[in-house]
Amino acid sequence: KQRFAGKTAIITGAGSGIGRATAIKMAREGANIALFDLVNERTADVERKLNQIRKGCALAVDVDTSSPERMEAAVKKTVEHFGGLDIVFANAGINGSIGPIEELSIEDWQRTLNVNLTGTFLSLKYTIPHMKSKGKGSIIITSSINGNRRFASFGFSPYSTTKAGQVAFAKMAALELAKFKIRVNVVSPGAISTNIDQSTEPTEELESIVIPIEFPEGQQPLADGPGKPEDVANLVSFLASDESSHITGAHIVIDGAESLL
Ligand code: NAD
Repeated sequence: KQRFAGKTAIITGAGSGIGRATAIKMAREGANIALFDLVNERTADVERKLNQIRKGCALAVDVDTSSPERMEAAVKKTVEHFGGLDIVFANAGINGSIGPIEELSIEDWQRTLNVNLTGTFLSLKYTIPHMKSKGKGSIIITSSINGNRRFASFGFSPYSTTKAGQVAFAKMAALELAKFKIRVNVVSPGAISTNIDQSTEPTEELESIVIPIEFPEGQQPLADGPGKPEDVANLVSFLASDESSHITGAHIVIDGAESLL
């Protein structure tokens, strides 16, 4: 299927995990993709892989999604390079620091908010004008069941707060942008096998009290273990494509029933 022939997508956090899998899938289906990430080596690998799928379809852009100046420049570069913008997958995120609330520093709290919430805001702020000028667009935001359906991850209060905030932001944006035919949907994965646990930065004092994230068998009744990045990529691709043209403001959980336990 070539659902994205002639379309351009920005994917944030495209150097790893869910963003990477989505970039590969959409490139296979014809999209040009700007890979936004701050880890350059990994992103360069994804760029190479995409260019093997279709020469010239990928552009790696070194950007911290929480920086307004860098995001504005990165979006401009993308549009100049590919000539327009149709799809935005605001996916970059970190677990951030985890631990008891009274042990978390203001810097811990702000960093998680900056990446997960401000980064999402900026991913829309600078891209909306380009989709408006096309008269159409599709935006997908990666939230999480943590903060929306599941609250059992001890110490994840900053992360879960940002993930809940992303759902509200997506719904506000969906209503605001409907008259421009720009759709905004939000997905909440359960545990997915990716590198995200490496983004957790417990401070030294916190290290002793942080409870490791374990994934007991049966935690996702539909699967043998955690979900795969490709599972989320399939859903995101559907939401990015015209097959979902009547869906906006939707919050879709993709967790193998983990949050029902
Ligand atoms: P990952 O760590 O494998 O990939 C995330 C990518 O985002 C990395 O390449 C990282 O370098 C990049 N990134 C982080 N901060 C950035 C920044 N400020 N600017 C640009 N790039 C940045 O993790 P993943 O699991 O694929 O995470 C993707 C999204 O999925 C996140 O929003 C995460 O909260 C969400 N999520 C993940 C899970 C899971 O179990 N893995 C579950 C629910 C939701």
